[in-house]
This record gives sequence, C-alpha cells and structure tokens, in this order.
Amino acid sequence: MSGLAFNPFAMAQSQFDKVAQLLELDEGTRELLRNPLREYQFSIPVHMDDGTVKVFRGFRVQHNDARGPSKGGIRFHPQETIDTVRALAMWMTWKCAVVDIPLGGGKGGVICDPHNLSMREQEQIARGWVRQIWKNVGPFNDVPAPDVMTNSQHMLWMLDEYEHLSGGHYPGFITGKPVGMGGSLGRTEATGFGVVFTIREALKTMGIHPEGTNAAVQGFGNVAQYAVRLYTQLGGKVVCVSSWDQTDQTSYTFKRDTGVDVDELLKITDRFGGIDKQKAEKLGYEVLPGGAWIEQEVDILVPAALENQITEENVNKISEKVKIVAEGANGPTAPEADDVLRKRGIYVIPDFLANAGGVTCSYFEQVQSNMNYFWTRDEVLGKLDVKMTEAFYAVHELAERRKLSMRDAAYVISINRVAQACKDRGWC
Ligand code: NAD
Repeated sequence: MSGLAFNPFAMAQSQFDKVAQLLELDEGTRELLRNPLREYQFSIPVHMDDGTVKVFRGFRVQHNDARGPSKGGIRFHPQETIDTVRALAMWMTWKCAVVDIPLGGGKGGVICDPHNLSMREQEQIARGWVRQIWKNVGPFNDVPAPDVMTNSQHMLWMLDEYEHLSGGHYPGFITGKPVGMGGSLGRTEATGFGVVFTIREALKTMGIHPEGTNAAVQGFGNVAQYAVRLYTQLGGKVVCVSSWDQTDQTSYTFKRDTGVDVDELLKITDRFGGIDKQKAEKLGYEVLPGGAWIEQEVDILVPAALENQITEENVNKISEKVKIVAEGANGPTAPEADDVLRKRGIYVIPDFLANAGGVTCSYFEQVQSNMNYFWTRDEVLGKLDVKMTEAFYAVHELAERRKLSMRDAAYVISINRVAQACKDRGWC
C-alpha cells in the first residue's frame, strides 16, 4: 500500500465525477449517485474463547438500489474502514449495471482479523453481523455475499441466523452458499474465470492467440487461483503469483520461469491464500519481494489481491511488453497510475467489468435459489461466459467509437443505466 492518506471512497467519487461531467449529468442526479443512499454502522459484541467480551465494528452500505436489490460482499479485514465499504458499494452499483443484471450496489464488512480468531469466534461475528442488520437486508432489498476473508461457511451461518430471526426459509437472502445448501455450481470459479473471459476477448480484439502469451498475477486467493487455472488451460503461462505472509507481515512474489502450477501451490497455501515460502523454494520457485509481480516482462498483468496496488510510485516499473492490465481486484489502480497506463496505450480491463463474474454468478445463484431448481456447472459457466462476453464487447465498442478508455466507457454505460433507472422511478 502506498501512503496512509489513500481514501478509496475519494477515488471512487473522483472516477464518478469525471464521467458525470462527460455525461453532463444534472446536479441532482450527480449528488444522488456520488453518495450512498443508506449506510449502517454497528457494534457486534462477541464472547471470546478466553472468556472476555470483545466488541467488533460492523458496516453495511447500500449505495444505490434503483435497478434492483443491493448486492455486495462482506469483508472481514483488520484495516476495514467505512470509506472502503462506501467505495466498494459504489463499485458494486456500476458492476451490476455494466453486466446488465437487475441488482444495485451494496457492501459490508467487519473490522477483525480472522487469522487471530477461532472458527467459533468467527461464527459469532457472522451471526452478530446479521443480528444487527437483518431488518435492513434480505432477498428483496439487499443480498450479501462473501468477499475478502469470508467464505461459504460464513454465508451459511449468516443465512441460518437470518432464517432463525425471520422465521422462514429464504435461501435468496445471501449468495456464495455451499453447493447443496442453496449455492450455485460454478460460483467458486466465477470471478477468476470471468477475468479470463475478458482477457480472452481483449486478446482477440488485438489479433493475439492466448497460446504463447504470459502473465504475472498479484495474489493467490479465490480470484487469482481460478484466473491462473483458466488462463493456463487456454494455453497462456503465468510466471508468478504473490501472496501475503502472515508471519513476516509482508508480501512475497513466487516466480518460476516455466510457469506456476496451481494444484502444486495449493498444497502449500493456507486457507487465506498465503503461500509457504520455504516449501515454494523447494518446488523451484524464486521468492521475490511482494512488489516484484509488477516488474515482470509479460503480456498481461492481473492484480488480484487488494486495492491501490498500481500507483504513481510503481507504475513506471511496468515492462514495455505489457499489453493488458486485467483488474481482478477492486480498485487496484490509483487514478494517477491509470493516466500513465492510458498514455502508454496499455489496454486496461477495469475492475468492475473484469471481476463482474462473481456477482453475475451470484445473481444466477439467487435466481436458482428462488426457483429451488439448480443448473449444472456447464450451464452456469456457459451463461456466465455469454454475459461477460456481451458486457466486454458493449464496453469495447463504446470505447472505440467514442475514443474513451475502457474504464470510462464502462462507467458511461453503467452510470447511464443507473441514472436512467433513478429518473424512471422519479427520484431525480
Ligand atoms: P482472497 O482473500 O481469497 O485472496 C487474497 C489474496 O491476496 C491472498 O492470496 C493473499 O495472500 C493475497 N494478498 C493479500 N495482501 C497482499 C499483498 N499486500 N500483496 C500480495 N498479495 C496479497 O480474496 P479474493 O476473493 O481472491 O479477492 C481478491 C480481490 O478481488 C479483492 O479486491 C476482492 O474485493 C476482489 N473480488 C473478489 C471477488 C470474489 O468473488 N472472490 C469478486 C469480485 C472482486
């Protein structure tokens, strides 16, 4: 992370303001869309395993629900702030709109560090989060999902608590549930695969076959693992991934010129996506500083860990060879760095398009949960490919036609759709 003063919400608003200007949006619509419609902050008291009571801070932000129920994940993170949640909620609004699914944007979180919490303590936090907010969320107004350091088990605890409080079965309350308990096949792969569907199409527009291309990936969590898997299946080579080391409290890059092997690395990766560096060295990986992923001589960079990773300070370390930056993470590129990428002619697939596979599949999960009829994995991933590919070309064609960056074109499409829904409802 560069600089303590980084504020993701200020960044999200500045991206919005720029496009609002471009679209000549009226003042009222701008004011409505540059801030969340609703936000909640609350305390979650937990009886810890050592007998003490600890109070955790929880959040839920509903940025906009003009197009449908708010949708967005819940993060468990020690550095969570309300501004991070606001930014992520706003990006969810644009993400749902860019892939044209009938959902709005929301996000939630709890300031906590699951590394230092037992499963029982995490369950209490998950259930406590629902107890504080259940009247303001639900299948028809706001549908949560997993995000950083939360998973299907947390979602199931949350569903159980919600159903207990509301006295019925509402599998459409939450997505990212375990398969067999209302979850959708394909959801685990969806975000990473979605990133690669957009990379595949971007390469196609450049007349490049994925075979023979290579990539460097930041992160080795859910998004990164499945992105590496599918990109490798398409014939590409991933030369490095990176991860956070809990013991050393720093990140490392794991590089192997012959390419990384997901299955092999998974055997030495903890449940938070942290790779064991001694074991990695034995497998022939070079262990480099965390920032090394960005300096690799590759065709494609995939930041898939955290926000604010490509900044003014490191953007010039990006090799001449790089043609595509596919933003798997939310908000990985700071605005100043984005300007540099644009000037250098690097094709950026913006976060809310590139990583929209997760929410698209969550939408499929909701549809299936509501019908109580579940599709096969191939059916889910086939529908996902169609949605992502359509969204990619809508953005790509607008970017070409209006000489816009991919990010601005994606914003133009999303903001137009959301502004129109607000107008149609008579809000502004
Ligand atoms: P995850 O918790 O599964 O994995 C995060 C990975 O990043 C881990 O390997 C961790 O070790 C690594 N990491 C953490 N800090 C790092 C650092 N400073 N440098 C290098 N690596 C670091 O998370 P995820 O679900 O893969 O999500 C990654 C990003 O993608 C987040 O920005 C998230 O908001 C976004 N995202 C996720 C989904 C989804 O469906 N999982 C959907 C859309 C967007």
